[in-house]
Amino acid sequence: MSQRGEPTAANPFASAESIARTELQRPLPDEDDCIGPGPVAEGGLPMDSTKKTAREILEARGKIDPAVIAVKLESRRGSEAIVDLMTPLPESEWAPGFKEVRKDTPEGLEVIRHSTAHVMADAVQKLFPGTKVTFGPATDNGFYYDFDRPGGTFSEEDLAAIETKMREIVASKSPFRRETIARQDAIDLFTKMGETYKVEWMSTLPPDTEFSVYRHGAPGQEWVDFCKGPHVPSTDVLAAVKLTAVSGTYWRGDERNPQLQRIYGTAFPSEKAMAAYMKQLEEAKARDHRKLGKELELFAFDGVAVASPFFLPRGAKVYNRMVEYIRDLYVRYGYEEIITPQIFTAEMFKTSGHLANYADNMYFALAADDMVDGEKFEKVRQAIVAQDRTEEQLALLAANVRGVKPMNCPGHCQLFGHRKRSYRELPWRCADFGRLHRYERGGVVHGLARVRTFCQDDAHIFCAPSQMEAEITSFNELLDEVYGAFGFSDVRIKLATRPERRVGGDHLWDAAEKALEDALRKTNRSFDLAEGEGAFYGPKLEFHVKDAIGRSWQLGTIQVDFNMPERFGLKYVDQEGKDQTPVMLHRAILGSLERFFAVYLEHVGGSFPVWLAPEQVCLLTVSEKVDGYAAEALAFLKSKGVRAIADLSPDKLGAKIRNARGMRYPYLAVVGAKEAETRSLALRRGNEELGAISLEDVAARLAAEGAFPRASK
Ligand SMILES: [Zn+2]
Ligand SMILES: [Zn+2]
Repeated sequence: MSQRGEPTAANPFASAESIARTELQRPLPDEDDCIGPGPVAEGGLPMDSTKKTAREILEARGKIDPAVIAVKLESRRGSEAIVDLMTPLPESEWAPGFKEVRKDTPEGLEVIRHSTAHVMADAVQKLFPGTKVTFGPATDNGFYYDFDRPGGTFSEEDLAAIETKMREIVASKSPFRRETIARQDAIDLFTKMGETYKVEWMSTLPPDTEFSVYRHGAPGQEWVDFCKGPHVPSTDVLAAVKLTAVSGTYWRGDERNPQLQRIYGTAFPSEKAMAAYMKQLEEAKARDHRKLGKELELFAFDGVAVASPFFLPRGAKVYNRMVEYIRDLYVRYGYEEIITPQIFTAEMFKTSGHLANYADNMYFALAADDMVDGEKFEKVRQAIVAQDRTEEQLALLAANVRGVKPMNCPGHCQLFGHRKRSYRELPWRCADFGRLHRYERGGVVHGLARVRTFCQDDAHIFCAPSQMEAEITSFNELLDEVYGAFGFSDVRIKLATRPERRVGGDHLWDAAEKALEDALRKTNRSFDLAEGEGAFYGPKLEFHVKDAIGRSWQLGTIQVDFNMPERFGLKYVDQEGKDQTPVMLHRAILGSLERFFAVYLEHVGGSFPVWLAPEQVCLLTVSEKVDGYAAEALAFLKSKGVRAIADLSPDKLGAKIRNARGMRYPYLAVVGAKEAETRSLALRRGNEELGAISLEDVAARLAAEGAFPRASK
């Protein structure tokens, strides 16, 4: 069965609200693209079939575009629901009107994928009678369905057979049909079918749940599922389907329950879209940073420090170049770097709120002295592991424990507040490459992308509210320059505004949201509005970049914070001699450098540009007769600041070139008798032969190309 979340009596479409909002910068509803089902009636949900479906409304207007497979409703509270063309439109809290959902949109894709799960379950039950179905949701990359197949798992051959059967079902162009059904009728129907898991699920649903079933297939061949939708109008919308994997799981995810078989698949609105996705998957696999990190000797992991990378010399060179580059920009953009401690009293983390809200992700530092008093130590232990810490426990921890910093902000607040501050010092932009530690659960760590120790290109700007806009504008310029240098040209900005639960008065929120928005608009930056998605302490911008193979990553952010300066009692003296609370801006461009390293390594597929490469040029000798000259040339280049390396092994030149290509040095320099004679190098860049170039010119060329990129403006 494919309930995608537990429907509630109040809103049978509740789970669809979680569908990612993509159309974020929503224009005001326009008469033309909103088609209303008529005046809105207050009251109950549409349990009767006299209400119109989206299909009926669209048909009444003329022909339905076959690319429209569902519609999107918006509630008066701003949440959204996707409803298929077969479902009578609900009223009450839903705003009148709807938007068409086309099959080539993210929302459409989710409908396609879930519908494909139905078709897969149909195929499985036709091929493997006696198999029972359970849940079949859409996922980020496709869909799955869990089955109880008596006597075992599904083989590769089974998957191929299921896929073939699915294509037959798709080709039958059978419409999906929806009907509502009384609870007892549904239970009787699925009991008769032997679908014990569905029956078990149905009996747990609240008494006022609307029961709907969906069918597809010709009479006699019909397949039925208990599901609240949405689904595509007809099976032939499912133009490209593929099964990808099978794995074991348990009913309702509990290992005490019967074991199930989960079949994964994916689906797209066209074969072309499927082929593009498959290509992207393949490219992503070839670029996997964990694989490249090993091959290129950049970093390693070891069980002595789980999920904590060791950067090898080559990786450390790249990492440090990244840091130096950002440092270089800080000078121009008016940041001052500070260095702050690693371990702080828990008192500070109580002030910042981390002790109450973030302790489960923090490391605590103990010294032998802390454990001398066994009774107190036990109380401290209990307070650390407590689910909801009492005020008393927080006070106990604050007085007796030290925490390893998971973020720089509290330390920076502490430093801002350590002496009196004047308005003349603002804005104060303090940057910190301090190492951070966060305890991430074993299941979520992933290569460099999610680790337990990392540093950020982190900085905090303490400023007066009136200075926010200029600071945000300057940050956006800095960010453009950095992303440009790393070759990320496709940047999307998201503006996240006030959530329902928040601190700070509305006048502060108004000012902060306006500052963020004005900074974007006045510089003609387009952005998506994410209403209600800001942090509880302030609104923010998020920066998402697209990499070389089209994947999107969130890297940078700038967040306005009214809360932390308040918690730390931070003040500055204004022009009139009055105490004022500064606003704090948290900002990072690359974010976690470890994670950025992973994203960037995959973006360039291991081929770092000359300004970042661990070695810019590799000298390859033709025979040992020129070893002397090669050593001299290497020493010369290094003396000019070039990162150079030489392969003096007895290998043949062809083998040396192959190895060097594998290490992705930007330049190769072949050294033979002629080069030795003329004090030159036969330079190559990729497949391009640049000919013999004098040592001095090679050094000058690499020094120029190796400099930090500067924005041209
Ligand atoms: Zn369904
Ligand atoms: Zn911060």
